Amino acid sequence: MSETFDAIVLGAGAAGMMCASAAGQRGRRVLLLDHAPEPGRKILISGGGRCNFTNIHTAPDRYLSANPHFAKSALSRYSPQDFLALVERYGIAWHEKTLGQLFCDGSARQIVQLLLDECAQGGVTLACGDAVRTVDHADSHFRVTFGQRTARAPALVIATGGPSIPKMGASGFAYDLARQFGLKVVQPRPALVPLTLSGEDALFRELSGVSADVIARCNKARFREAALFTHRGLSGPAILQVSSYWQRGDAVGIDFLPDRAPGWLIAAKRARPRAGLPAVLGEALPERLARALAERLDQSGELGAMQDKALAAIEAQLANWRFIPNGSEGYAKAEVTAGGISVAELSSKTMEARRVPGLFAIGEAVDVTGWLGGYNFQWAWASGWATGQAL
Ligand SMILES: Cc1cc2nc3c(=O)[nH]c(=O)nc-3n(C[C@H](O)[C@H](O)[C@H](O)COP(=O)(O)OP(=O)(O)OC[C@H]3O[C@@H](n4cnc5c(N)ncnc54)[C@H](O)[C@@H]3O)c2cc1C
Repeated sequence: MSETFDAIVLGAGAAGMMCASAAGQRGRRVLLLDHAPEPGRKILISGGGRCNFTNIHTAPDRYLSANPHFAKSALSRYSPQDFLALVERYGIAWHEKTLGQLFCDGSARQIVQLLLDECAQGGVTLACGDAVRTVDHADSHFRVTFGQRTARAPALVIATGGPSIPKMGASGFAYDLARQFGLKVVQPRPALVPLTLSGEDALFRELSGVSADVIARCNKARFREAALFTHRGLSGPAILQVSSYWQRGDAVGIDFLPDRAPGWLIAAKRARPRAGLPAVLGEALPERLARALAERLDQSGELGAMQDKALAAIEAQLANWRFIPNGSEGYAKAEVTAGGISVAELSSKTMEARRVPGLFAIGEAVDVTGWLGGYNFQWAWASGWATGQAL
């Protein structure tokens, strides 16, 4: 026997819970399904356990998508202030860490509890722990079998996220389902992910644990944040940010001294001709990094013995040190998945598939990927809310 609902939401993560609660509170009978034993597991591990739940600088240009305009509608109708108002209504203490990133003072579990309470207020039926076995569509209804049960509804929401961090139950299920209904999928790839180095660049791995405030560039992207050397290559916020724009073969350029004005090295030579490059670099960079850069530049002598032209060339190299990563650490370490269900298939207002009435896709499953810093949860809330209004 099958149970009937107004909508079935697949995936009790950030987007799915927001969508289910919004629809439930509008009087819809909603079934929210997840194969994991508990809802919101990525929320629990997010932001180092404190959940960077939004970013007050949210704007459409902080998202990657084949159609950069797609996210505008949903983001404008459910803003960071809307989610913050909800957080405050629940008395959850929060703080801005940096760059507009809002975190819980306490635990990410408070955000999961907020969403569960919101779902309960909407009378949402939550079913966790059973894998979805089949999904089909007939007589204007979607039929979902999971565990030993069957449910049907005129609306089905794909909110099962992307494949990043498979050990948390993440999967490419959203794409399989989208393809089953004839929707295009933009080639998914790991994003917000550490990059790996080989060959000459691999020498930098000896700096594992060293970090510096840099400008990292890749293609048109440019981020000023910390970069971290790791035993496999490069990480830290600046690198995670540019990784979303990186494709195999692309160079990542690093400005190791973003605050130094052009000509600074020549000025240093005039002021301290006896000083060596490692010492001068060490005034602005961690000592190990300063030494390693000077070594690779093959400069161990005094600045006074070097020609201005050579110093200008060194400056230029330090301002755009080119690494050619040989790969990334993949889905196992990627904070998000870029690509996904093509936005060309969806209404930007409701997230409903144009070709399959009643089918919706939200959150990370869709080809909309935010920067690091709370932008991805804001997309999950905004897209979930948009669909919640349409069910
Ligand atoms: C370590 C880490 C830290 C992060 N920190 C932040 C942060 O601080 N701020 C930020 O904005 N973003 C952060 N993110 C990104 C953020 O977690 C995601 O963008 C967001 O969770 C996407 O929401 P979603 O609901 O689309 O997908 P998810 O939250 O991934 O939810 C998808 C749900 O679907 C379920 N599911 C998957 N496959 C199936 C299936 N076959 N059947 C049934 N259910 C299924 C999963 O179990 C899961 O519960 C972080 C990600 C990671 C990995």
